[in-house]
Amino acid sequence: INQRVMEAEKMEVVSHLASSVSHEVRNPLTTTRGFLQLMLQFDLPEEKRIQYLKISIDELDRANEIIRDYLTFAKPASEKVRQLNLREEVFRTLQIMTPLANMNSVEITTKLGDHFINGEDHTFQQALINMTKNCIEAMPHKGVLSIESMERHDKVLLTISDTGKGMTKDELSRIGEPYFTTKGREGTGLGMMVSKKIIESMNGTLDITSKLNHGTTFHISLPLANEKN
Ligand code: ADP
Ligand code: MG
Repeated sequence: INQRVMEAEKMEVVSHLASSVSHEVRNPLTTTRGFLQLMLQFDLPEEKRIQYLKISIDELDRANEIIRDYLTFAKPASEKVRQLNLREEVFRTLQIMTPLANMNSVEITTKLGDHFINGEDHTFQQALINMTKNCIEAMPHKGVLSIESMERHDKVLLTISDTGKGMTKDELSRIGEPYFTTKGREGTGLGMMVSKKIIESMNGTLDITSKLNHGTTFHISLPLANEKN
């Protein structure tokens, strides 16, 4: 029964994410359409044409960002909860994030064991991507991203830390709130909400500690899969 409940909750998260993404993406698309329509005007001055094109490109970039925070990998049709090796999932995520880390001169260190958890690989990777991306973005001119794991009782504790800009108390209390971002037009304020939902759907918890100008740590706790399921 427990497994059934978990699957049902899982599907709810997925369908919630899917309906959110269409809702979120509609705004920039509607704006883009509006400006393209304006460009149909006869005798539009050159500077207006360029302005409208710039806005349209901006809005399309925004739609793309939103989709990236929500579903880099999500394939709702193939959702399958199975036993995952935490270390493998982290390494897959790091492969994807390495180019961004290199761009910011961020060094990546890991201390990971083989821990087995129940989850859907792409969904879990989405949560890891959103968190590691935030860490790297908090270190624009170098730093260290470190990821470690350890088992305690029937749980695995995964910590993702950066040596970046950190957060104020107010920022820390608002992280994960939908649309809360300090990145202006570059941010969506959706990444952490998505990560938290995904971890909770796996019966895990996410806690965050941060020190301004020193760095941030994401503390993730997930139930270990027992051999039978
Ligand atoms: P976005 O990255 O689009 O702003 P997120 O939901 O991923 O949205 O993050 C929300 C906000 O939380 C960020 O804008 C930033 O202020 C803060 N934040 C998240 N992770 C970190 C981090 N590792 N270091 C510092 N601030 C962070
Ligand atoms: Mg983010």
